[in-house]
Amino acid sequence: MFSPSSSRFGSLIIVLILLLLISCNQPNTSEEAGQSLYLQNRVPLAAKPYLELPLGAIKPTGWLHDQLERMRDGMTGHLDEIYPEVMGPRNGWLGGDGDGWERGPYWIDGLLPLAYILNDQELKDKVQSWIEWTLDNQAENGYLGPVSFDAEPANEPGLQRGMRKDWWPKMVMLKILQQYYTATGDERVITTLTRYFKYQLKELPNTPLDHWTLWANRRGGDNLMVVYWLYNITGDTFLLDLGKLITEQTFPWTQIFLNEANYDNPVSPWHYSQLKRYPFDPDEIEALSISKIGSMHCVNLAQSLKQPVIYYQYDQDEKYLRAVKKALADIKQYHGQPQGMYGADEPLHGTDPVHGVEFCSVVEELFSLETILTITGDMEFADQIERIAYNALPAQASDDFSSRQYFQAANQVELTDRLQVSYQTLGHGGTDFVFGTLTGYPCCTSNMHQGWPKFVQNLWYATADGGVAALLYAPSEVILKVADNIDLKITETTGYPFREEVKFKFGLNDATAFPFHLKIPSWTNDASVLINDKKWQGSINEGLAIINRKWKNGDEVVLRLPMATKASRWHDFSVAVERGPLVYALKVRGEEKSKDRKDRFRPFTEVYPADPWNYGLLENDMKGEEISNYRIVENDWDGSYPWNLENAPVQIQMRGIRVPDWKLTSGAPYFPAFWGTYRGDAEIEEITLVPYGCTTLRITEFPVYRLSE
Ligand SMILES: [Zn+2]
Repeated sequence: MFSPSSSRFGSLIIVLILLLLISCNQPNTSEEAGQSLYLQNRVPLAAKPYLELPLGAIKPTGWLHDQLERMRDGMTGHLDEIYPEVMGPRNGWLGGDGDGWERGPYWIDGLLPLAYILNDQELKDKVQSWIEWTLDNQAENGYLGPVSFDAEPANEPGLQRGMRKDWWPKMVMLKILQQYYTATGDERVITTLTRYFKYQLKELPNTPLDHWTLWANRRGGDNLMVVYWLYNITGDTFLLDLGKLITEQTFPWTQIFLNEANYDNPVSPWHYSQLKRYPFDPDEIEALSISKIGSMHCVNLAQSLKQPVIYYQYDQDEKYLRAVKKALADIKQYHGQPQGMYGADEPLHGTDPVHGVEFCSVVEELFSLETILTITGDMEFADQIERIAYNALPAQASDDFSSRQYFQAANQVELTDRLQVSYQTLGHGGTDFVFGTLTGYPCCTSNMHQGWPKFVQNLWYATADGGVAALLYAPSEVILKVADNIDLKITETTGYPFREEVKFKFGLNDATAFPFHLKIPSWTNDASVLINDKKWQGSINEGLAIINRKWKNGDEVVLRLPMATKASRWHDFSVAVERGPLVYALKVRGEEKSKDRKDRFRPFTEVYPADPWNYGLLENDMKGEEISNYRIVENDWDGSYPWNLENAPVQIQMRGIRVPDWKLTSGAPYFPAFWGTYRGDAEIEEITLVPYGCTTLRITEFPVYRLSE
């Protein structure tokens, strides 16, 4: 088995020993799922269908491994050198008198999983100094984190020095410590978190979550998640009381998500920051809905999606699940863009495809959906994860991960500091859409790193019934224990999301029976599963194929997911072209120009279009979802890094017309009038669409023209 070359085999043994150690450290205590080898919920929390694997169990291969190496060599691995004023030794989370709020923990929340997935000692060492300072410097009373100043410190431009006692940034450190424990089994995490949560239980009645900032009441779900995680390990019942207290002080997302749409009654874009803090004003809460522009801050919304579902584990009312599904539907209807995100710059801003999507929202919504997926086992969330991870995520950072956009948009064709579309344009010196390190706002510089590593971490799960699940597809390997503590390795080889086939090869010593769960995406109609070249005859229920059989070494499963090309409708009934998990956008080459204004936004890169971008599609080629007159071209692709125009593994050729009247307004491609019959003298041209994630400049939502006879 494992057909090992020696060094590979050595590291495999180490991973297996580590997994064994960690599963010993994490006694399963759920009465319902007594045989689970991985951390399951303890009663009274509802058992989870899918159990996360320890960091290090899942290895990306192919382009996904390359993606993580680009992060290692780019900003993620070097942020302390690139952004030393915040990430250097003066940071409060390292004991210094500098920045002491969210940015330091944000970075480590992404760097830590990257370090352990790549098994990179240099990166682990960088992480460890933050872990050590935090664990070594817990106060007598249980307080965790930067030591607060006696008097509010002087303002230093570019640093967030105050608010050191705020509950919010500590929530990020809780997530870090949880991950660190799954990677190392370091018992200090358990004692430190127990003391901190006792401190919270004592202090929260007097200094509620939003005593210092509103962010903590909006993001209490992150706090609650780690409280329940610790409860599963220790069984300390005070944690359940703390869970109730945190939920009570957290913004009432479930109610707000269930509120009916009331977008005809607009509020100021800054309404989200003006609401009464805890105890909340019932009238204000009742009047709040996702449909309203300005009702919410984009990153709060992305994080809050998981809150009702996390609490659902304790209070198993189905309304919590209903609330989150309605929230996703409302986000799409009132602010949605085809790459899976929503226009919110930073307040919610409606469906116009020129409106920005903040990078923090992308990575936080991914993490929320990943968390929700393990608790609900509902494949709608898995499909949404792939839509965001395979469209929005790769588009917002440069290929070498050395710069990023603060905002991306579905339709962006010229990225300059003269682009004026966002509520933040004036406050951010026009730099929201250009590529830089500190353009827009520095939260994303710090927080963007968690996206890919956590996606890798959710490619595979152990199942509650002793099996293994692949619910998101990417080239990877997993090593875990199944059935009665049996070692299993699965190698996944695939060109997905650009190709329709996913292959799994099993490695195990003894033939063993266990279930293998595979997601069947909602966009495919005739998926098929082959096991050792024979068609699997089982049924697919609710987007899931569960293959129950005795597996042996060398077994091969091939999943085929035929991808149809479809039209979807967006802002003003514009059309986007989708195929499988990918959204396609007009191929527009860009010319980069460096600019240095010698200000706090640092030097940045503007991108100008080198090709015409003002194309519409033809109504004659659309009938409902169906598109005619197009061609799929699979380009030669060896599986290497796919996310740019040169390497795009697939493209769609279709018909379009150039619309000379469609010009930039304030630098943005606001739609021209396109209803009625087009009377211009446009010639029908062949246009090229490529995967959204491969583009920097793009039109994704197209106006659709009916040509005169
Ligand atoms: Zn951000």
